[in-house]
Amino acid sequence: MIDLRSDTVTKPTPAMRRAMAEAEVGDDVYQEDPTVNRLEARAAEIMGKEAGLFVPTGCMGNTIGMTVHTEHGQEVICDSRAHVLNYELSMMAWFAGCLARAIPTERGHLSWEAIAKEIRPVGPHAAPTGLIAVENTHNVAGGTVYPLEQLAEIKRGAESRGLPVHMDGARFFHAATALNVAPVEIAQYADTVMFCLSKGLGAPVGSMLVGTQKQMDKGRLLRKRLGGGMRQAGVLAAAGLVALEEMRGRLGEDHANAAYLAEALAQLPGIAVEPYAGTNIVFFDVAGTGMTAAELADRLLAKGVVMIAMGPYRMRAVTHFDVDRAACEEAVALLGQLLHN
Ligand SMILES: *Cc1c(COP(=O)(O)O)cnc(C)c1O
Repeated sequence: MIDLRSDTVTKPTPAMRRAMAEAEVGDDVYQEDPTVNRLEARAAEIMGKEAGLFVPTGCMGNTIGMTVHTEHGQEVICDSRAHVLNYELSMMAWFAGCLARAIPTERGHLSWEAIAKEIRPVGPHAAPTGLIAVENTHNVAGGTVYPLEQLAEIKRGAESRGLPVHMDGARFFHAATALNVAPVEIAQYADTVMFCLSKGLGAPVGSMLVGTQKQMDKGRLLRKRLGGGMRQAGVLAAAGLVALEEMRGRLGEDHANAAYLAEALAQLPGIAVEPYAGTNIVFFDVAGTGMTAAELADRLLAKGVVMIAMGPYRMRAVTHFDVDRAACEEAVALLGQLLHN
């Protein structure tokens, strides 16, 4: 199987399995797991924040991040294709008690100009704005990377209005790799950042939330309330540390493979590749093949290639460390056979 569905499908590396087997552990609800403590401190250090919080999933990290910043009855400004809005079971409403104020965008990126227009006036009718949420890289927009200047402008504007910024950085390090900047260069423009250890970085489980000590203290209580108070979680955190230390540096390979896919898929009949954003995600339209994305996905599956249908004619391929260049070439060849027959 050549699995290009998502970068979540990666299996832990031998180094991760060794680290897991040897992890020093304790009860993390009492904050006595040394490996979790090390991971949280290291994540905060890399991102230039005071503190970190290890969470089981990105969804929980976003939920805690958004709940820490807001009060019930507020609005959260996000883009209309945001993961926090469309793929997290309305957690914003369920847990944070907030309403999304969604802004349509070209590439998944908000601008301060667009945000400023949606900040509600204080008065007897409109719900107050409590938070601005940005997604970097942006999944459904095609792995697009926020230009730094645009983020800086959002942060400056948000500060001027006393509003916090949360970044859904499930693929944060893909953005840092694409821009070739240190993580702090991006993280400085958000009050809290969530990033996944379990996606391109290859850990089996886990995400991180980083921010101030005060935010993480509050977040720790929310994590417990959400059922995320894990005990000897150092077994998982050990893999997360390997992900942070050993896997960040190789994301460029995934980007190069995605660039290859974007170019090679565009040569196939009936396939229209969306502009490639420079990270590990490629979207393409299959209407010209006479098949729907679901039909094509089924036929591909029969040949041992897994890609995901993200719309009636829209398909997604995501590269990661369990598919190398040869596997990408084979996937393209198999798709080519299918289309030529
Ligand atoms: C995957 C993803 C998440 C959440 O991840 P889970 O760990 O699956 O809960 C959040 N935001 C974006 C943009 C994602 O792609």
